[in-house]
Amino acid sequence: MDDNGATYVSFEHTNAVHARTVLVDWMLGNACSYACSYCPKSLHDGTVRWQNPDDVVDFYDRLQIHYVTHRDRRVWLQFTGGEPTMHPQIVRILEEASARGFSVSLISNASRTHRFWTKIKPHLNAVILTYHSEFVDFDHFKGVGEILVPDVPMHINITMKPAEFGKIHADALELRQAFPDATISLKPLRVDFATELYEYSDAQMAIMDAGLPGCSGHPDRLPRATMTGRTADGNRNRLRANEIILRNLNRLMGYRCNAGLESLRINASGQVFRATCGVGGSIGTLGETFELPYAPISCTAHKCGCTADILITKSRAEQFVRR
Ligand code: SF4
Ligand code: SF4
Repeated sequence: MDDNGATYVSFEHTNAVHARTVLVDWMLGNACSYACSYCPKSLHDGTVRWQNPDDVVDFYDRLQIHYVTHRDRRVWLQFTGGEPTMHPQIVRILEEASARGFSVSLISNASRTHRFWTKIKPHLNAVILTYHSEFVDFDHFKGVGEILVPDVPMHINITMKPAEFGKIHADALELRQAFPDATISLKPLRVDFATELYEYSDAQMAIMDAGLPGCSGHPDRLPRATMTGRTADGNRNRLRANEIILRNLNRLMGYRCNAGLESLRINASGQVFRATCGVGGSIGTLGETFELPYAPISCTAHKCGCTADILITKSRAEQFVRR
């Protein structure tokens, strides 16, 4: 039940193109050019070797056969880290993805040189740049954005460290002005990136809640946007991922879920999962032989916890629509 008393029997992508997109959330390693104080060490200390580029490219071929050739889906690779642009073979990794017709986005702190960003720009379909005040150089960050827009849709996450809130907010407003077409989020920080928020004043919370004057972004040029929830009596509502979480609509145990058909998650060690939630366990490791999913899975999680997982088709078993 949600706060309106409606029970959703299914959640489907509002945009049909998103329904046939396989979003591969791919952590290439855990080394980073920064060491943000609020980031767990395991996400930036370089203790896991960068993935072997040959294994990466071999997996591309398997993705292409399984999802594109046999299922007529679009593959969208979203690389993260650590800092994915630090992978010593990142240019080859991007070039090989483009050569296969995959779409590619990066979640990056934008720290590499302007020359580097100019070189990789032709291989990018979108970027998510995160502004980390402890290490970032404002002019450099802005310069990266200027290289990418308007050709590459850009989202900027601003991490709002409470102790430097005013300065970071001022930087965010300047970026808003510089990039009117970008979507920008003021991100509250959570301790160890878990559930507990850092201590913010009421005024700071209000500023983050209100966000920045926005733009609608480029939903047609992104791998995911909103879901349409359908109630048992046939009503349909368009829902944002956050809305699904905040309205407690994300208790979906027993629902049939397209995790593994529309999504994959690869961790820094190269283990492959259907989705971030890990439901179904590891299905294999890069460089080894294993079978990619060909059927939906029944959800066993108490909550569908993160935005990426929310934005996957799911429905009660009797309502299931396979795409
Ligand atoms: S840039 Fe990202 S991965 Fe690197 S230390 Fe900061 S939060 Fe962690
Ligand atoms: S938790 Fe995983 S399996 Fe369950 S609904 Fe969410 S994405 Fe699907």
